[in-house]
Amino acid sequence: MSVGGIMLFKLYCPNCGNEYGINESIWKCSCGNYLNIKVEPDFSFDFKKVKVRSKCLWRYRELIPIEKDENIVSFNEGFTPIVKMRKNIFLKLDYMFPTGSFKDRGATVLISKLKEIGVKSIVEDSSGNAGIAISAYSAAAKIKCSIYVPEIISEEKYMQLKIYGAKVVKIKGTREDVAKEALKEAEKTYYAGHNWNPFFIEGTKTIAYEIFEQIGVPDNIIVPIGGGSLILGIYKGFKELESMGIIDKMPKLCGVQSDVCKPIYYGLLGKEPKDTIKGEVLAEGIAVNKPPRGKEIVKAIKETEGNVITVNNNEIIQGILELGKMGIFAEITSGVVMPALKKANLEEDEVTVAIITGNGLKTVSKLAKILSKYK
Ligand SMILES: *Cc1c(COP(=O)(O)O)cnc(C)c1O
Ligand SMILES: [Zn+2]
Repeated sequence: MSVGGIMLFKLYCPNCGNEYGINESIWKCSCGNYLNIKVEPDFSFDFKKVKVRSKCLWRYRELIPIEKDENIVSFNEGFTPIVKMRKNIFLKLDYMFPTGSFKDRGATVLISKLKEIGVKSIVEDSSGNAGIAISAYSAAAKIKCSIYVPEIISEEKYMQLKIYGAKVVKIKGTREDVAKEALKEAEKTYYAGHNWNPFFIEGTKTIAYEIFEQIGVPDNIIVPIGGGSLILGIYKGFKELESMGIIDKMPKLCGVQSDVCKPIYYGLLGKEPKDTIKGEVLAEGIAVNKPPRGKEIVKAIKETEGNVITVNNNEIIQGILELGKMGIFAEITSGVVMPALKKANLEEDEVTVAIITGNGLKTVSKLAKILSKYK
C-alpha cells in the first residue's frame, strides 16, 4: 500500500519469503538468509524532478528507504564524473568520493538507516574500503565501530581506518575467516556487514541512476566483482528504472574477477563457487571467496546476458599503468577493468561503461613493492 503516494519499503527474505518492517533492527532473516528490500505497491516516481536537484546521490531521495531527512548522514557524495575514453567507451570515475571509493554510496545509506533506528555501535568485516567508508560515516553519525580486516590490507587503508577512529582487528586467513570473526563479535552488537546488509545496496544502486542521467542506458557495464554490492546495485537501479517504465532495456552486466579468486566465474559455469584463493592477491578489493549473495549475482548476470571475465595479476598491473597514462590513478583492484575491456569482445557500435572503483592513493606502498615484479 502506498500512503499519499509515498512508496512503502519492506525487508523480505528471498529464501523463505518472510517479511519485516523497514525499521526493524535486524540484519538477517530468522531462517538465516540475508534480507532484501522491496517496495509496494510498485516503484513510481516522476524522474524529471531530480534534474534540478544538487549533484549528489541524494538527488534520488524518494527512491532511498530512509524515512526522515534529519537522519541522513551525508557529505553530499556521488554524481561522480563519467569520461569518454574513446568512441563508445566511457569510464565512470567512482573513486571520486570522500573516502576514495564507491563504497561511500552504500555507507551513506546504511549509516543513515542505523542512525534512524537508533543503533549505537556496529561491527563490520571488510577488505578495506567498505570498512573505511563505514568508519567515516559512523564517525559523522557518532556511532562506535569495529572493523575486521584481512592481514593483507594495504598500509594506507589501515591508517585511514585508524584516523576515522574505528577499532581495527586484523585477521589471518581468507576473507571468509575475517567475516566469521566479525560475526562472533556481532552477537553482542549490530552487524553492519556490507555484503549482508541490504541498505548498502540501496546506496550502490544510485550509480545506475547516475549513468542513466549521464549517458542513457549503455549496452555493457564492466564492473569488478568482490562481494557484489556494486554489481547488484547496478542491477537493482536499472531494474527499478525499467519497472518505472523509464527505460526499456537492461545493460549487459560484465563482471570482472581475478584469476586468484573467482567464485562468480565458477558460479556461472554452474559449479559450486570454489573457496580457495590461489596465488598472490593483488586485487584485494575483490578477493571475496564466498560472497553471501553469490547466487543472486550469478542470476543477475545471466538475466542480462552478461558474463564474467577473469584477469591475471600481470594484466591488472598493466591496467593500472594504462589508466595512469590517461591521467587516472586507480587503486590496484580497479586495474582489472582495463584488460576486461580488451577481452570483452565489444562490438564497435556498442556503448560500454567501465567502473573505476578506488583511488590509487590507497595502494601506493603495495604498488611500490610489486611494480618491478610485474613489469
Ligand atoms: C569493494 C571493492 C570492489 C568490489 O565491489 P563489491 O561490491 O564488493 O563487489 C572493487 N573495487 C574496489 C576498489 C573495492 O573497494
Ligand atoms: Zn528467511
